[in-house]
Amino acid sequence: MLSLFFMGRICCCQKKHRQINFVEVNISDLLNPDNLNLLNELENVTIVLTTQNNHGMAEQRRVFFELMEKGCKVPVVIKRSYEKEDAAHFQLYASTDYGALSIDGFGDGIWLTSNKVNPQIINSTSFGVLQATRQRISKTEYISCPSCGRTLFDLQETTQNIRSRTSHLKGIKIGIMGCIVNGPGEMADADYGYVGSGVGKITLYKGKEVVERSIDSSKAVDALIELIKKHGDWMEKN
Ligand code: SF4
Repeated sequence: MLSLFFMGRICCCQKKHRQINFVEVNISDLLNPDNLNLLNELENVTIVLTTQNNHGMAEQRRVFFELMEKGCKVPVVIKRSYEKEDAAHFQLYASTDYGALSIDGFGDGIWLTSNKVNPQIINSTSFGVLQATRQRISKTEYISCPSCGRTLFDLQETTQNIRSRTSHLKGIKIGIMGCIVNGPGEMADADYGYVGSGVGKITLYKGKEVVERSIDSSKAVDALIELIKKHGDWMEKN
């Protein structure tokens, strides 16, 4: 990471890389109009936006408004550090802090750090928030109804079964719906649909199209996987 700061101002005479330079800044650096103007002029620079504020999300949101107001088009990586939180609190705070900005379209990258949390959890949380805010789809997404009196199969067990066999796939959405009355409408943007259509019977969808009706539920998960394979979205687990 390059420090381009000298006495609170961005210093453009530091040695820089030809391709990309990450400049770590916080709100006070960016409230200096000279710094903002200079950032706009520098080439191959990406801002890494940090905060120490207890209300860091609100502070970082303000920075984005400042950048927009000044017409600053420099890409911004949102960096947050969670050094006191355990894994559960890390996931909760990182999701709400980053997700609230990302869902409004702020930020070009995510950088979460913690000394207490396993790097795998940091990684999966980062990709999870990116997926939830539609910034980057990297794993299978499930749309499932809450189930009600119309559900004619064990929705939780079936969802678990489908998850265990398809969660390694990349970037597809599978709708798992309890009934044919409202299910197809509620999973309208799913790539594949698994919908209860009678006692022990399942109807499969590809997008909005019905592809197979009244499959015995004992064979329906296999049939769903065959359908995914047929459309080229299947890959074997590593
Ligand atoms: S999709 Fe059907 S089963 Fe699921 S909650 Fe809606 S009405 Fe009930």
